[in-house]
Amino acid sequence: MKYFVNETCIGCGLCTELCPEVFRMTEEGVAEATEQEVSGAEEAAKEALESCPVSAIEEKE
Ligand code: SF4
Repeated sequence: MKYFVNETCIGCGLCTELCPEVFRMTEEGVAEATEQEVSGAEEAAKEALESCPVSAIEEKE
C-alpha cells in the first residue's frame, strides 16, 4: 500500500512521529508520503492514517 497526503494537512507532525518510514515533513511545513512501497511499516502507516486529526492521509493504489 502507498499513501498520499492531501492539501488539508495542517502540519501537526503526528504521522511523521508514528511512521517516519513513510511520512516526512516538507520545507513547506506539511507532511508528504514517500513514493516508495515500504515493507514492514504497514501497521504504523495505517495508524498514522487513522490518527491524522484532519484525515489528510489517503490510501493510494
Ligand atoms: S498527521 Fe495529518 S495533519 Fe498531521 S502532519 Fe500528518 S498528514 Fe498532516
